[in-house]
Amino acid sequence: MAQLSLRDVRKNFKGTEVLRGIDLEIGDRELVVFVGPSGCGKSTLLRMIAGLDDMSGGEFLLNGVSMREVPPSKRGIAMVFQSYALYPHMDVYENMAFGARLQGLDKAEVENRIQDAAKMLRLEPLLRRKPRELSGGQRQRVAIGRALVRKPEVFLLDEPLSNLDAALRSDVRLEIAKLHQDIGGTMIYVTHDQVEAMTLADKIVVMNAGRIEQVGSPRELYETPANTFVATFIGSPR
Ligand code: ADP
Ligand code: MG
Repeated sequence: MAQLSLRDVRKNFKGTEVLRGIDLEIGDRELVVFVGPSGCGKSTLLRMIAGLDDMSGGEFLLNGVSMREVPPSKRGIAMVFQSYALYPHMDVYENMAFGARLQGLDKAEVENRIQDAAKMLRLEPLLRRKPRELSGGQRQRVAIGRALVRKPEVFLLDEPLSNLDAALRSDVRLEIAKLHQDIGGTMIYVTHDQVEAMTLADKIVVMNAGRIEQVGSPRELYETPANTFVATFIGSPR
C-alpha cells in the first residue's frame, strides 16, 4: 500500500519561496499527474517526496509515517529523471542492477527482477549495450527499468517524455500507462504538457507559482475549472 499525505509543504531557496504550502492526498495505486508551467515547482516537489531535497516546512507522510528523517533509499520510492541519469560506463544490465544491489538484494533476486523488467520493457536484446549505444526511447526505458527492479511502492516520473521525439512519445506514454496497471503501485507523473496530463491521469494536480490551483479528474478540470488559470492552461493548445 502507498498512500501519500502532503501537509503545508514549503520550500525556500535562498529566501525565495518556490513551494508555498502544498496540501495534497494521494491514494494507493493512483496515477496522479502534476502539471503546470515551467518553473512552477513540480520537480522540487517530486525531489522532496523522493527525499533528494529537504523541506523548508510542512510534513510528508507515507502510509501515515513521517518521512522527515527517512533517507531516500528507505522510502520505497523510486524516481525516473528527465535526463535519464544513466551511468555511462555501465551497460544496461549493470545500470539496472546497481540500485537493487544497494538495497541489499542477493544476486539471484537481482537477476530475476532484471529479467522481468527487461521483458516488460522489451530490453532483453539490449542488456549488454552501453547507454551511448541506445536511442533516446531505449535509454528512457532503461531508466524506467532501473526504477522498476527496486520494486518501489511509489514511482515518480519527472517529464519522462521530454527528450523523445513526437513519434516515440505516444509509445512510451502507453508503456507507462500499462506499467502502472501491471505493477499496481502509486505513480506520480510530472509534465508541463496538459494534453499528456489529460490522457494519462486518474487525478490531475494543477500547479502554478508554488501553489496548487486545482485537483480533479481530467473531466472535472475540463468541465469545471476552478479559476481562469486552470481554464486557460488546460484549454490552451500545445
Ligand atoms: P518545474 O519542475 O515546475 O519546472 P522547478 O521545481 O524545477 O520547476 O523549479 C521551481 C523554481 O525553483 C524555479 O524558479 C527554479 O529556478 C527554482 N529552483 C529549483 N531548484 C533550485 C535550486 N537548487 N536553487 C535555487 N533555485 C532553484
Ligand atoms: Mg521540472
